[in-house]
This record gives sequence, structure tokens and C-alpha cells, in this order.
Amino acid sequence: MRDGQGRTIDYLRVSLTDRCNLRCSYCMPEECPRWLPRERLLADEELLRIVELLVRMGIRDIRLTGGEPLLRENLEELAGSIAAMEGVRRVSLTTNGVLLAGKLPSLLEAGISGVNISLNALERDCYRKIAGRDLWEKAWEGFQAAVSFSDRLTVKVNVVPMKGVNEDQLVPLAALAARYPVHVRFIEMMPVGRGAYTEGIREEEVLKRLEAAFGPLLLSPGPAGSGPAVYRRPEGFLGNIGWISAVSHKFCDRCSRIRLTADGWLKTCLQYEAGLDLAGLLRKGASREELLQAVEEAIRMKPACHAFGEAQEGDGWEKRPMSGIGG
Ligand code: SAM
Ligand code: SF4
Repeated sequence: MRDGQGRTIDYLRVSLTDRCNLRCSYCMPEECPRWLPRERLLADEELLRIVELLVRMGIRDIRLTGGEPLLRENLEELAGSIAAMEGVRRVSLTTNGVLLAGKLPSLLEAGISGVNISLNALERDCYRKIAGRDLWEKAWEGFQAAVSFSDRLTVKVNVVPMKGVNEDQLVPLAALAARYPVHVRFIEMMPVGRGAYTEGIREEEVLKRLEAAFGPLLLSPGPAGSGPAVYRRPEGFLGNIGWISAVSHKFCDRCSRIRLTADGWLKTCLQYEAGLDLAGLLRKGASREELLQAVEEAIRMKPACHAFGEAQEGDGWEKRPMSGIGG
């Protein structure tokens, strides 16, 4: 499947819910988040119908996200049905890890081959301040469980560096890749939702601090299916350290992704509202042919590039919080 710029589109992020058991300061407001009403969420059959259609059209890698995807009751069944679709290469999960430990065996059984765990601090107090909940131990349990299956699972840790918030955690977090076979990735703060009001730390600055701690960090190919991340590997580390710097190092020319929100909107660029109301079409009884045509047209119109950092706000900019998009 190719978009109007000739880019191959084969990666889909599926948000299974906009709800979450954490309240990360840069993602979800503590004060009464406006959840989608339940009837707006895609039912399992609708979700599987849409994913199957997109796989038919060329999607190969699927990441389940949220909100917190582990809050979706039948996550394992959904993951299993998606992994069993002909043409699907990889199904993976992005989670805060809090509920992961207990569910990991059944998720592996279902066919999940990768898990990204968001962990912004190794210190309990710092974690609580960012996540709004005192659940570091649970997240750490999730991380340990994932590591114990690392022979069957690609394990990544997602960190969002924030000025004056978790600066002293960056080196200890990166050092997880020395002790465990995991890939630790620093995600640049994006001006989406509350992220627009939180100051991140640029790639070069994080790199400088890590090189001071570990010595030269040479570029490395990273794990398979790395997407837009750039990886480096210090001498003797078991895993890689990576950066995903959508603002300072745009990678739109290599973008291969689309997103499906929990209410069935096919989103073609993180920054813009642009896309297609697939839930609406399905519920109006659109035929398979009509759905295919509508998706093709939406993909053809996928924006060429985001404009993060160039303006504060503009026409057609996304208004959903990141928790309602899935990252
Ligand atoms: N709840 C799951 C989790 O935290 O991994 C999945 C959803 S969360 C929205 C997906 C990823 O987006 C997380 O790694 C989170 O830290 C990241 N994220 C949220 N808001 C962001 C922002 N404004 N800029 C960069 N990353 C952000
Ligand atoms: Fe929840 Fe993930 Fe957003 Fe944190 S980053 S509030 S865990 S959706």
C-alpha cells in the first residue's frame, strides 16, 4: 500500500481504549479526563473487521496501544485473532507495564512478539510524580516479567526525557540495556496534547550525558523492525540505546504508519486530524468495496510531513490527547 508521496504503508498502531490506570503529566490530565462514551468504542468484531481489511491492503506490523491496552478485557483474544491473520508479520504491545506480569504468558500464547514498556524513572518518587500513581513496583514487575521471556520477546523500554523532571534518571535507565537484553529508547517530547506544555530534552543533550557516563556510543542497527528509531550501542551492553526524535530529527520521509483510534478513526498523521471515520462507515453498512476505496483515498491524502515546532497551532491540528491516539 502506497500513499500519495510514494511511501509504503505497512505499519498500524491500534488504540484499544482511551482509558488509563496512570495519569502521566505530559499525556493525560489528572482532573476528570473526558473518556469516550463506551458506545463510541469499536466493538471487537468491528475492530477485527477493520484490521483484517487493512492487513489485506498491505499492513504487516501491528502495535496494540491505548490509553492502556491491558485495560481492554479481552486483549489476549484480540491479539490472538490479529496474529492469526494471513499476512501479519508482527503483533506487539505498548504498555505502561503495571498490569503486564500476570498477562504476559497468555499474551505470548496469543502470538505477541514484542513489548514496549513505558518507564520514565527507576526511582519510585520520581515515577509517582510523573505517572500520578504510586505504581512503580508494579511497572517494574512488568519489566522483570518481560525480561524473563526475552528469548521469545523483543523488549523495549520507552523513556520521555523531561527538563527538571527525570534528568537524573536518564543514565540509570539507559544502563538497563547493559544488564538486560532490552532496548532503551528516548522519545522526544512531541507537542501533542499536554506534551505541548512540557519541556523535553533534545537527542544531542541526552547523547552527551550518556557518552559522559558510558564512553563513545557507536551507531548500531538495533533490533529488527526498528521503525524510525536510531540506535547506538556502548561496549559490552546486552541491548541498544535508541532515540526517536520526531521534532529535532524529522523522519516523515520514511513514515510507514497509520493509526486506528479506539473510536474507529483511521488517522494518517500524528499531528493532524486528517483521516477517515471507519467506524461511521461500518455502522452505515458500507460494503467492503466502499471501505477499500475510502481507505485508499485517505492513505493517498496522508500528509507529507508534520509541522511540530514550527507553529503553536493551526487548521486541522489534532485536538485529542496522546492517550486518545496511542502514541
Ligand atoms: N499507556 C501505554 C504506554 O504508556 O506505553 C500506551 C499509550 S502511550 C500514549 C504510548 C507512548 O506515548 C508512551 O511511551 C508515552 O510515554 C508516549 N507519549 C505520550 N505523550 C507523549 C508526548 N507528548 N510526546 C512523546 N511521547 C509521548
Ligand atoms: Fe497512560 Fe501511557 Fe498516557 Fe501514561 S503515557 S497516561 S501510561 S496512556
